Amino acid sequence: MKKRTSALDKILGRLDDLDSVNLTNLVQRLARERRLLETVFDTIQDGILVLDQSGIIQYSNFTANRLLGIRDHQIGSLTLWKLIPDLIQALDIYYTDRMPDQQDRVISQELELTYPEKRFVRLYMVPLDETFSSGSEGGFAMVLSDITEEKVSTQEMIENERVSSIMNLSAGVAHELGNPLNSLNIHLQLMERQLQKMKPSPDRDKLAAQVSICKGEVDRLDHIIEHFLDAVRPQPPDLGGELDIHEALAEVLKVLEGELQNRGIEIDVEVTPNLPSIIADRNQIKQVLFNIIKNAMEATPKGGRLEMRTTHDEEYVQMIVADNGQGISQDDMSKVFTPYFTTKSDGHGLGMMIVQRIMRDHGGQIRIDSREGTGTTVSLRFPRKDRRARLLETD
Ligand code: ADP
Ligand code: MG
Repeated sequence: MKKRTSALDKILGRLDDLDSVNLTNLVQRLARERRLLETVFDTIQDGILVLDQSGIIQYSNFTANRLLGIRDHQIGSLTLWKLIPDLIQALDIYYTDRMPDQQDRVISQELELTYPEKRFVRLYMVPLDETFSSGSEGGFAMVLSDITEEKVSTQEMIENERVSSIMNLSAGVAHELGNPLNSLNIHLQLMERQLQKMKPSPDRDKLAAQVSICKGEVDRLDHIIEHFLDAVRPQPPDLGGELDIHEALAEVLKVLEGELQNRGIEIDVEVTPNLPSIIADRNQIKQVLFNIIKNAMEATPKGGRLEMRTTHDEEYVQMIVADNGQGISQDDMSKVFTPYFTTKSDGHGLGMMIVQRIMRDHGGQIRIDSREGTGTTVSLRFPRKDRRARLLETD
């Protein structure tokens, strides 16, 4: 980051020359400027926090105080993680060795706050360099946007008008494609059988090979349509059963296997044995994993690498999908979940919106952290099945 010299810096440079009157003036001026800035920051609708490396709140504007229930006298001594234990996880990522160089890293995550009142917020966190965090080593700036209303209205938007009419239309078209594809498939099978009956000859072999390619392509189209229909028809999850997330992952990787190989992308899966089950709709979770892995794959150049890991703690089963692809710019980060936001020429910009919806429906969380040019890590958290049972018991 470039260092700017302000009027203050210039005065500070001549501090030794100042007499006590000038010094008093200067201090007064600084106090006025500070008050002005505080007033400005307090009118902002988003919560703004500055934290030091250990999470102690150094500054908090009016909205942040309100959202998190922070009292003025707590600033300078209160650790944010005490207030929102869930956030320790957000900081965690800064301490892992996955991406040791922290500059330019941004985190975007949705959180449900329960105290002082129930609100949904989107957290946006950027590391600060030393220049800005008064001597201490690094620190974080955090912006909290209250998305309680937005969540409700996104839900409404999906359910009404433009989005749903486009979705219905495309679902209709996709569905219609099923019939001709079926017919193609049947005729290709007939051709295969007839070819088998013909006398062996180089011509027959050539034709048989071509028919087999056609069948493969028809199968592929079939898959595409199937996934597309899953994507555009929002359905409430069937939470009747339990799911081993590894099974879902294995099935998704099977579908994507060919494409991953074609792109020469290496995958590295590291699973925790005896992972607790989650309560989940199998198909929807597969959809989530499919969309995320597909995005990771599309962001990664040939010879790139995807890493998948599963872990758990007492409450959650966690899975991360990390790629070493192009990453997401700070600007784009806030739009990733927006319907129709895409940076791809052939993208539809619905994948992440669907992922987010499914995660919410499962009481789960999604977090993305990314660094442009280095890669992206998507973390998913699902409530453990036995946690729910435990909660019910203690109820
Ligand atoms: P689409 O894949 O059709 O563009 P998505 O909703 O799946 O739509 O993703 C929206 C956008 O988010 C993508 O166009 C891309 O810019 C960004 N994105 C999502 N995942 C990644 C990733 N792993 N790496 C880089 N960019 C990503
Ligand atoms: Mg996508």
